[in-house]
Amino acid sequence: MIRIDGVLLSKGSGGVYGEKMMKGLRVWDPYRSKFAALAMIKPETDLDEDLRVLYLGAANGTTVSHFADYVKTVYAVEFAPRPMQDLIEVSRRRKNIIPIMADAANPREYAPFVEEVGMIYQDVAQPNQAEIALVNLPFLKKGGVVILMLKARSVDVTADPKVIFEDTIKTLEDGGLIVEDTCRLEPYHHDHACIVCRKP
Ligand code: SAM
Repeated sequence: MIRIDGVLLSKGSGGVYGEKMMKGLRVWDPYRSKFAALAMIKPETDLDEDLRVLYLGAANGTTVSHFADYVKTVYAVEFAPRPMQDLIEVSRRRKNIIPIMADAANPREYAPFVEEVGMIYQDVAQPNQAEIALVNLPFLKKGGVVILMLKARSVDVTADPKVIFEDTIKTLEDGGLIVEDTCRLEPYHHDHACIVCRKP
């Protein structure tokens, strides 16, 4: 990934959401994007230009637009109408974003439009986050990666975040994934953890 003076950047035309520019490149702010936070915390994080990504919880396309600067195709799933309007605008400016208005918990809605992918990136902030990842596994090729951004308070506001985190890992492992790495997203995003898994 492109870094200059410790700043994470992506190529592509700017002005997508008011992001800063540096040396003609788009600044990818770790305080606004959990993937950028992961890339700051784990410098080995990378995105390949041949990668196809199924992105669950695309919102208004902030992070999606940076993914699209790096990878081949982003299938961007979002179910809320308001952010979807912005996502469609972002998709008009990037040829490799496929916006899909659908519920990520019901992948049959978009199965006809999605090719096999090398990565599932999920940031849905929902109680059933692990289950949503698992029902989307048929899209992921063998050896492909799942990156799940877990917001413990979305699962259960009353429960201990550590317990939620451990339960989520167990659900993912019981679903057939190998959990390869985990980290918290402090100081960029509070109450968030990242779980990186691989499909055997
Ligand atoms: N990933 C975005 C970014 O970095 O720019 C932020 C995502 S925001 C935390 C979570 C988004 O997931 C919201 O826009 C919400 O509408 C969407 N979402 C939640 N549950 C969903 C579901 N089951 N299917 C599709 N989208 C969902």
